[in-house]
Amino acid sequence: MRVARPLTAERLVIASHNAGKVAEFRALLEPLGIEALSGAALGLDEPEETGGSFRANAEIKARAAAAGSAFPALADDSGLVVPALEGAPGIRSARWAGPEKDFRRAIKRVEDALRERGCAPEGAPASFVAALSLCWPDGHCESFEGRVDGRLTFPPRGEKGFGYDPIFIPEGSTITFGEMSPENKHAISHRARAFERMIAAGFAGSKAGGP
Ligand code: IMP
Repeated sequence: MRVARPLTAERLVIASHNAGKVAEFRALLEPLGIEALSGAALGLDEPEETGGSFRANAEIKARAAAAGSAFPALADDSGLVVPALEGAPGIRSARWAGPEKDFRRAIKRVEDALRERGCAPEGAPASFVAALSLCWPDGHCESFEGRVDGRLTFPPRGEKGFGYDPIFIPEGSTITFGEMSPENKHAISHRARAFERMIAAGFAGSKAGGP
């Protein structure tokens, strides 16, 4: 499906205070001739994520940043989805790590929750999902989703990634995201897939070589 409104501006705000995310998006946008400003550098507040889906939360963040900056804004919301846990931790992926952002604790909670339900943690199907939303100051949004399917492994393996990377083996691989080089992970990640969909839908118009 084509976007209803392509991006014509040459600048947009990345609605995130996470320096890693801003850097990842900057690298994706640079080849399109789009300058990415960071929400933190503009002093924008991060709104509460009160939505019931990845997409709703991405739109909340992008809408707030666009309204606060008067530039179009790009936001993402992502997480680990485990079907045997009815999709948990899902949109609560960051919250499962607690205020101290302890992902060893979050990973243990996933393992314990699977055992409590009588499911084998090893090999349990899981996906990473990302929603990307581009919103304008007038409230119009274009949103896209990307996912990568795989299975879980315990104990965690690899120090390269973040969050739940050390327990996630993507389909077709034998190593976890935590053991994979960032280049290899970014080539197949849920965020990269959502971004590819956005490009394919013509979000950057002629900048991406589209019509
Ligand atoms: P967000 O910043 O609100 O989108 O929170 C996303 C949360 O989901 C992060 O804190 C991680 O726990 C998890 N997550 C999202 N993407 C990844 C990934 O690529 N690897 C590992 N964990 C991820």
